[in-house]
Amino acid sequence: MTSERYLWFVGDRLVVDAEGNYLHDQPAEQARFTLPVSRAGDDPALWLCSLDSDGPVTPSCRSESLRALLGNADEGEFARLSRAAQLNTWHRHHRFCSRCGAPTRLHNDDLAAHCDQCNYAQYPRISPCIIVLIRDGERCLLAHAAHYGPGRYSTLAGFIEAGETAEEAVRREVKEEVGVDVDNVRYAFSQSWPFPHALMLGFYADYAGGEITPDGVEILDAQWFGKQPLPDLPPPFTISRRLIDGFLASLD
Ligand SMILES: [Zn+2]
Repeated sequence: MTSERYLWFVGDRLVVDAEGNYLHDQPAEQARFTLPVSRAGDDPALWLCSLDSDGPVTPSCRSESLRALLGNADEGEFARLSRAAQLNTWHRHHRFCSRCGAPTRLHNDDLAAHCDQCNYAQYPRISPCIIVLIRDGERCLLAHAAHYGPGRYSTLAGFIEAGETAEEAVRREVKEEVGVDVDNVRYAFSQSWPFPHALMLGFYADYAGGEITPDGVEILDAQWFGKQPLPDLPPPFTISRRLIDGFLASLD
């Protein structure tokens, strides 16, 4: 018999027990809704229970940010938590039909928020983004974004616009954010990123000209970095760090 485990969300945070475990044996009693996270055949079957932000939580439990839990997760845990968090956010934000305004109902077969009034179905939202490491021989271009902590530098990223290919988005974002041109844009790997529902498509690109000119809004500074000295980099579980580590490994 398949066993079952439950993730309890309070808003966008996860409830953990006194030992820090986030997998619960029981569903949360006061859950506003419960959704399947695992796919057919997964053992244990995983569910998410969504509690109201001000809902009561068992006294011995506390809530933990998703970002903190992802920081310690292995690849399988990362995938499960990312999926669960995105489904939780999606369903909390799609309680009403975006076409006619009637309340939606969860469709069990294909995980859609279904409107019985006008028959419209809203599926979990996924927003494709590009993230790119620009290299010029033995150096790479990293940028300090306005929302980073002091000294943090990372790769460039941005949402793909309607009607645009991922490669076009790479060239546009790079030009907009730091003012340089790139070519030889090549896909590397992707990551599902649950803040709040991005699919990060990771690329490498070669510097093709232009002077670094940060846009001053999203990007406050950008510089070339070689193997040493490196600035403060994003944590290991991020795709940006994986791109940077891949670049550094190619220098060995
Ligand atoms: Zn409707």
